[in-house]
Amino acid sequence: MTADAHCHLSLLRDPDEAVYEGLAAGVSPILAVSMDADEAEAVLALRDRHRGAVLAGAGLHPSRIVELSVEQQREHLLRIEGIAEGADFIGEIGLDYKDAREEPQRAHQREALERLLDVAAGRRLPVNLHTRRADREVMEAAIAFHEKTGLGALMHWFTHSSKLARSCTERGIFISAGPSVLVSERTAAVARCIDASILLVETDTPVEYGTLGPARPAWAARVLRRLAELRQTDVALLSESVRRNLANYLERS
Ligand SMILES: [Zn+2]
Repeated sequence: MTADAHCHLSLLRDPDEAVYEGLAAGVSPILAVSMDADEAEAVLALRDRHRGAVLAGAGLHPSRIVELSVEQQREHLLRIEGIAEGADFIGEIGLDYKDAREEPQRAHQREALERLLDVAAGRRLPVNLHTRRADREVMEAAIAFHEKTGLGALMHWFTHSSKLARSCTERGIFISAGPSVLVSERTAAVARCIDASILLVETDTPVEYGTLGPARPAWAARVLRRLAELRQTDVALLSESVRRNLANYLERS
């Protein structure tokens, strides 16, 4: 029925059960992102246990970068470069200027982003991108990456501005909408207008969504149904177009 295009599967206490639960709800594959090299190893192991149902992302999250010393950042980046050889995509990577308030921290985030975009280009892997308070900068990096390599770039949870969503449409950058469409009118209004050619579905599991509690990958099916309702389209038709978008996003040739 649909994929979960952005999920922190390895952070769950019962990731295997969550995969089976997802499959039962029609959610497959789950794109399992990682925030550092240890998590990257964990998601590769999950992918190997659930071939076809899980795809593994190797990444260094910008919010993790600010928690690490420069030496540790270097170590994680080196390990991730090695792990990327066996990964299905690069992510979660990006910029988070809420967590990086000082310019040196932001510079470290930018350096890591640039380096991991290069790794993705070299390995012919699509990228799964995070942004907070750095929207233009990350979007421009995504556009430059996509134009240079022809590879897929996904701005995850990028559902707060219709204007930025239009720029993504024009440049072929994917956007994933998540469970916030179930609880936020504002997000729902943006998600309703995102062009069908770039729209994907995610959960960002295990993020908590208000009274709904922590997300599970199976929720991608609920998000898809809500999006179909918002967009006044048939859920099977939307499911088909999201499936096609996922294939385009993952295309590596
Ligand atoms: Zn995330």
